[in-house]
Amino acid sequence: MVIGGEKAMAAARQKLKEAVKDTAIEIIDFVHYGKECTYETAGRLEKLAPVLEADMIFAVGGGKAVDTCKLVSIDLKKPYFSFPTIASNCAASSALSIVYHEDGSFCDFVHFLESAKHVFIDSQIIAQAPRQYLWAGIGDTYAKYYEVDISARGEKLNYYKSMGVHMSKMCMETLMETGSQALRDNEAGIVSESLEEAALCIIMTTGWVSMLVARDHTMDYNGGLAHAFFYGLCNLPGFDEDHLHGVVVAFGVLLLLLVDGREEECQRLKDFNRTVGLPVSLTDLGVTLDQVAQCTPSMVKDEDLDHYPYKVTEEMILEAARKLL
Ligand SMILES: [Zn+2]
Repeated sequence: MVIGGEKAMAAARQKLKEAVKDTAIEIIDFVHYGKECTYETAGRLEKLAPVLEADMIFAVGGGKAVDTCKLVSIDLKKPYFSFPTIASNCAASSALSIVYHEDGSFCDFVHFLESAKHVFIDSQIIAQAPRQYLWAGIGDTYAKYYEVDISARGEKLNYYKSMGVHMSKMCMETLMETGSQALRDNEAGIVSESLEEAALCIIMTTGWVSMLVARDHTMDYNGGLAHAFFYGLCNLPGFDEDHLHGVVVAFGVLLLLLVDGREEECQRLKDFNRTVGLPVSLTDLGVTLDQVAQCTPSMVKDEDLDHYPYKVTEEMILEAARKLL
């Protein structure tokens, strides 16, 4: 049973059909998942006859489609395989589903014991996807390194967490090396080594890191100030609709570095952001200092800061923001 986004399935349909031709695998149907990853959407899919009949679920698309398939797979106890059609997030490889309410507001994080049985990445499909997905994905992915690294600072780490923290460095290094070329190749619709490296980093490395650093559920090192900054700004009317998550988080990392007292690293990351057109100032982001000030009370309360080596105050955020006008 193939479940996915409309555009995603249009891009993958023919390739999937060809891939299973002359094998024991039969695709019984293709179904559009819906609009949001909600419990209602999953419940509706779970009642469909071909979904009930299927032995396995092929999840095709971006984050929301794949996350919906995870819910269906868990409820119906059927294995799922993921086919990400954009390189923008780690939904295809992670064992987490981000669930929304029908009105589009956030509802729940659902953690699973199992991730996809296999992740199939077709470089050609990724190369032909709209550029903005990869662009935003770069910011959200390098944030994984900076946030995990800070959250785990000074901790005694067990084997898995230590592995996750070390691996997180690749989320930054790989993209610094390949990000800018990967974006150009994406723009031209060309498959290249840089594009494949960047896509693997965004889709796979980040997913593994997120699972490893939260593996035993006692302490979760995912999240940090860059994400708290984004979720705080989402209190501004229309902000969420007008901004890509990864682009705001990319800027949030600059702020995080200043709060952490690392001016030099902030400068290095700014230089990188300029090469890929990610924001380096509040002006680039289209946000004023006053608007940041309005949102700092909710930023400092955000659960992304629940585990941090020091207390982040509103004044620390504003001071950093003033340096990033
Ligand atoms: Zn994110």
